[in-house]
Amino acid sequence: LDATATTESDVMASVAMSENDYRMKLLLIGDSGVGKSCLLLRFCDDSFATSFITTIGIDFKVRTIDVDGKKVRLQIWDTAGQERFRTITNAYYRGAMGILLVYDITDSSTFQNVRNWIGSITEYAAENVNVVLVGNKADMEESKRQVTKEEGQALADEYKIRFLETSAKTKYNVEEVFVSIARDIKKRLEESTT
Ligand code: GDP
Ligand code: MG
Repeated sequence: LDATATTESDVMASVAMSENDYRMKLLLIGDSGVGKSCLLLRFCDDSFATSFITTIGIDFKVRTIDVDGKKVRLQIWDTAGQERFRTITNAYYRGAMGILLVYDITDSSTFQNVRNWIGSITEYAAENVNVVLVGNKADMEESKRQVTKEEGQALADEYKIRFLETSAKTKYNVEEVFVSIARDIKKRLEESTT
């Protein structure tokens, strides 16, 4: 609250301001089984499910975070692969400000598919959408790894997007990946209004 607010309307204005400085719609995309639902669950509920989470239809969760002193309400959308239906894809991508494109570091086919997912982003998302490439399951033992960190970084560099490896299981970089994309979006919005 603004300590200098004297009248009731000043107080109300200051409450409204602090309630939600930003609202952002984010999407999770990537092949089935890479850990999208687990990342969402970890970020929003701080839990981890070892069995496959059955995502029925399109689902979203909400969490409000603090980014450099501003309240940012993240609405994060998750699907179980219905994106292949055009009308659903359109609804899914509509208004999205940021996209987490997830692959599994222990499954090279999910990494090879990243280029197809970027194709979908180009087709359906807003031109200025912020994208982060996420190599999930970084907790898995090195012998299971099929995609190196360098390969992930190189692909992200090619598309000029951010890259992070994460683990929904151990929480490694989960907070960071959501906060960093929110910070990038906030910066973009601030730059576009000045
Ligand atoms: P989705 O289809 O992309 O939503 O994938 P899920 O979130 O349902 O996860 C698929 C499987 O991978 C489940 O068995 C999870 O327990 C497992 N999984 C998800 N994230 C991780 C992770 O960070 N580490 C490990 N070891 N397993 C994970
Ligand atoms: Mg899922």
